[in-house]
Amino acid sequence: MAKRKQMVVVTGGAGFLGSHLCDRFVNDGFKVICIDNLITGNLKNIKHLLKDKNFNWMRHDVSKEIKVAGPVDCVLHFASPASPVDYLAYPIPTLKVGSLGTHNALGLAKLKKARFLLASTSEVYGDPQEHPQKETYWGHVNPIGPRGVYDEAKRFAEAITLAYHRYHKIDTKIVRIFNTYGPRMRIEDGRVVPNFIYQAMHNKSLTVYGTGKQTRSFCFYSDLIEGIVRLLFSKIHGPVNIGNADEFTILQFAKLVLKVSDTKSKIVYKKLPTDDPRQRQPDISLAKKHLKWRPKVKLEEGLVETFSWFQENVD
Ligand code: UDP
Repeated sequence: MAKRKQMVVVTGGAGFLGSHLCDRFVNDGFKVICIDNLITGNLKNIKHLLKDKNFNWMRHDVSKEIKVAGPVDCVLHFASPASPVDYLAYPIPTLKVGSLGTHNALGLAKLKKARFLLASTSEVYGDPQEHPQKETYWGHVNPIGPRGVYDEAKRFAEAITLAYHRYHKIDTKIVRIFNTYGPRMRIEDGRVVPNFIYQAMHNKSLTVYGTGKQTRSFCFYSDLIEGIVRLLFSKIHGPVNIGNADEFTILQFAKLVLKVSDTKSKIVYKKLPTDDPRQRQPDISLAKKHLKWRPKVKLEEGLVETFSWFQENVD
């Protein structure tokens, strides 16, 4: 009898990272069920997969019970608005998908005896007072500020994930994702990468918030996906930072966008959003040691690829 193909469920599978994960698993010979309610996901991201017999998709809000027929081997919970602009626009759905959605996705993993991976975030560190951030750092989050809807939902999601591991013995993984960029980001999601690229493409001024001295460390999506797959099949249950440790100020990043884009754009300064973290850089020692993973794509290289994708795919 032919061996059954492994079945992977990806919640948020029509989003930026979720859709790249669907691609990766289909290419690696898995069957994939993508679940998305399309509030920030887009069918365009999975259009090329729709005819593949190993791919299925369901429009569903995972804050409500998730029903899947047949065996499931892995559940990856990626559903959530993920950009500050999006989670400010959808504060309650963000809280619900991080809490109820994670509960439901864990319930599915428990029922099917599947391994479970939670997409967590560097936002659990808030405006960090430890730099770079190690997984052992507890964070510095404002629970009642506007970003709290995302940060606290993800912190709850981590707590319930580890409770399911400890109490129900589910094989859980938690990836703390740092700023990631690449093809299929939504041009209007408000994050710095699509904003600057859109502005540069249209010779509009690049909007640097605050002084631009705040830092971020940008990881190309392909490096992140590789790290996630390695983590999924590892023996680690607690959180693991996956990100690129090359840290840039936002002003440096704006200048890099100007360099790669052949634009007439200038830089203008706008108000810094509330609770915008002043610095962010992952300590990736754990991933290097236990997953034998390290990012390969330099920011300039990834930015050139992302820029041309936006030029070809976005009006
Ligand atoms: N940012 C900016 N201009 C923009 C969008 C964002 O200067 O048009 C800044 C933002 O204030 C933050 C950094 O870029 O300091 C990264 O913001 P993003 O929204 O991409 O993600 P975050 O890391 O804050 O979740």
